[in-house]
Amino acid sequence: MSMTTTHTSPLETLGDIASQLGYSLQDEKLALHLDDQDELKHLRQCFHVPKIKDIPTTDKSLVNEEDDCVYLCGNSLGLLPKTVKPYIDEELDKWAKMGVHGHFTGKRPWALCDECIVDLMATIVGARKEEVALMNGLSVNLHLQMLSFYRPTKERYKILLEAKAFPSDHYAVESQIRLHGLDVGKSMLLLYPRKGEDTLRTEDILSVIEENGDSIAVILFSGVQYYTGQLFDMEKITEAGHKKGCFVGFDLAHAVGNVELHLHDWGVDFACWCSYKYLNSGAGGLAGAFLHKKHSNTIKPTLMGWWGHDFKTRFKMENEMELSPGINGFRISNPPILLVCSLHASLEVFNQTTMKALRKKSILLTGYLEQLIKYYFSKSTEGPQKPYAKILTPSNVKERGCQLSLTFSLPIKAVFEELEKRGVVCDMREPHGLRIAPVPLYNTFHDVYRFIQILGQAIAAVEKRSKHQCQ
Ligand SMILES: *Cc1c(COP(=O)(O)O)cnc(C)c1O
Repeated sequence: MSMTTTHTSPLETLGDIASQLGYSLQDEKLALHLDDQDELKHLRQCFHVPKIKDIPTTDKSLVNEEDDCVYLCGNSLGLLPKTVKPYIDEELDKWAKMGVHGHFTGKRPWALCDECIVDLMATIVGARKEEVALMNGLSVNLHLQMLSFYRPTKERYKILLEAKAFPSDHYAVESQIRLHGLDVGKSMLLLYPRKGEDTLRTEDILSVIEENGDSIAVILFSGVQYYTGQLFDMEKITEAGHKKGCFVGFDLAHAVGNVELHLHDWGVDFACWCSYKYLNSGAGGLAGAFLHKKHSNTIKPTLMGWWGHDFKTRFKMENEMELSPGINGFRISNPPILLVCSLHASLEVFNQTTMKALRKKSILLTGYLEQLIKYYFSKSTEGPQKPYAKILTPSNVKERGCQLSLTFSLPIKAVFEELEKRGVVCDMREPHGLRIAPVPLYNTFHDVYRFIQILGQAIAAVEKRSKHQCQ
């Protein structure tokens, strides 16, 4: 809709390719061609893609059990990289053979294992190595960072966040406010989309900051909104916040490994993320945290542990804190080697390419999904109304990552069930959203093609069911 630079539009690119080949945009051959030409296609081989027969919701009478499932759920839980198991085995062997000596021996000395992979992580978020730590879970890191950044005063005491932030972020903010004995209603500034709209307009975010900035202590936004898939303009939000003297932090749960990030260059004050979504580290994986270099000697952790002590003297046990500068001082406990293994395996796959290359594929892949949804499932403007889908996610590629969030004119739960029976793995969120995330690391154009075919079957099945019920 608001596409200005025509040559970056995925629809145009797809149209050009299809017409050169003499295919229609709906032709299966187009999907196969795009996969064939995909320079990142080899990366799918780095992952275990579940078979339809192993998906517990499959109705075996409706599918070919030997096929791979159509996995479009990397926004919720990324697939297992094939090297996770051997990496974990290596560490278990080391433990079996040398016990405590594993702390300072081998490829990933346990006492330093987080630091062994932190440069791989820093590259993905556009940060310097010393600005990133791998520790804890996401919500824990958010709390630890808020404890340092949220220091309310009489004049500046509010936290600005999205009205529909992820529950954990909402609760974290509420409890941080209560910790200071303040009133949640007065201190939490919630940003709603305009009436009748599903996503926030950048101009509205910036004007709220402009109008209320003097009383805002911290602006906490997501990078990519978990429900709508909207990608926020982090650079502009950071700049606007700083102009008003606010700290600006981001929850990057749905942005990391999905879109290009330049946390250092954007001047973001702090950020945190989990690693089990687009970063494929497995459920409950090791989370990340970013603290900008400019704060490395001024912003200190509120809660400390021995792992924040400078490595050189940490084990002297003299109980006089020599705090590591920056985010490393925020580490409290020693790192979990088994969680480092899975994250290491995944980050190495990312390291075979760049976020730029992944993003380029992602824009085309999601654009392909968008155009097929619009072609087959748009609301008709004339004649009898067929069931239709609506895309909540912005159509401007600069305002979205790989995920599209859909609503349907039919009961969402029924559509979801019919998809699940037929080998599609995606995610339904109340009240009425279906989140579809084609991930450029391991999804193919043919996955998207199959999804669209199956969605057609699912919708037909739901219609048939409801007609039966009416009779
Ligand atoms: C996934 C997600 C979380 C989950 O938090 P954990 O601490 O990892 O359980 C929190 N916030 C957002 C925005 C998320 O998308």
